[in-house]
Amino acid sequence: MSQVVRAFRPVVDNDKCIRCGNCQTFCPEGTVLLTGEGVIHDYRYCTGCGICANECPVGAIEMVREGAG
Ligand code: SF4
Ligand code: SF4
Repeated sequence: MSQVVRAFRPVVDNDKCIRCGNCQTFCPEGTVLLTGEGVIHDYRYCTGCGICANECPVGAIEMVREGAG
């Protein structure tokens, strides 16, 4: 299993999230899980492509540079 190297990782603000499911639907890697508690990203397989952030209607997903603390 290869390690994913990415420049950015998606970080969800679950207070903003309206549980629409777009991020789960559009993630090409299938790494997003929408639960009753909010959105969970599986960072083991996320490539940091940013599609989930682009498809979020309320801007709840922010792409944060890896290693930025
Ligand atoms: S950044 Fe890309 S791979 Fe990662 S969770 Fe979002 S859509 Fe999926
Ligand atoms: S696309 Fe945005 S609002 Fe919709 S479930 Fe994902 S994080 Fe929440």
